[in-house]
Amino acid sequence: MVKRGLFVGRFQPPHLGHIEVIKWCFRHVDELVIVIGSAQESHTLKNPFTAGERIEMLRLALRDAGIRADKVYLIPVPDIAMNFVWPRYVELFAPRFQIVFTRNPLVARLFSEYGYKIVEPPSFSREEYSATHVRELMLAGNDRWRQLVPRSVEKYIDNIKGVERLQQIAMKD
Ligand code: NAD
Repeated sequence: MVKRGLFVGRFQPPHLGHIEVIKWCFRHVDELVIVIGSAQESHTLKNPFTAGERIEMLRLALRDAGIRADKVYLIPVPDIAMNFVWPRYVELFAPRFQIVFTRNPLVARLFSEYGYKIVEPPSFSREEYSATHVRELMLAGNDRWRQLVPRSVEKYIDNIKGVERLQQIAMKD
């Protein structure tokens, strides 16, 4: 049987830390289901990018990292108000998986209550490689965010004028 893992994130945007985690997960499983969480969210300070944009960015980043597309499932899942049943909701959208890779305590807690094996990946320069930090730099007009994301993600964000979007959302009327 194919050994398949689950990795959930918001990927707002995907950064080099996410990619390191994904590469690390592949040491443990043959295939990985990557859930793009909060799929209903976009155009907010915490969630500036649409689920579709996040899928495109992840695909580019995975290709850059040499990860085979046929080993990965990218599944967008909107949030629901009921934490307890959320793992069942994820199961509805995702191919079957046996292991949940997460450093998010709530995600670990919820899936463990359904009997899933939880594996915590190591931290990859978490202070630097953090989507919150990337968005803060973008908002401040600091180009250092470019060093924290894969090159193809940087180009994609430039293409869709992602930094302008974030800065405009932050403005007051
Ligand atoms: P995220 O993109 O911030 O992080 C994804 C994962 O990558 C996390 O496990 C995080 O710890 C890890 N990570 C990030 N940078 C790292 C680094 N440098 N080194 C090592 N690990 C790193 O996403 P998130 O906010 O954790 O995503 C959780 C998703 O699950 C959200 O969309 C949330 O809404 C969803 N969720 C939904 C419900 C519900 O609908 N009821 C309940 C729980 C969670």
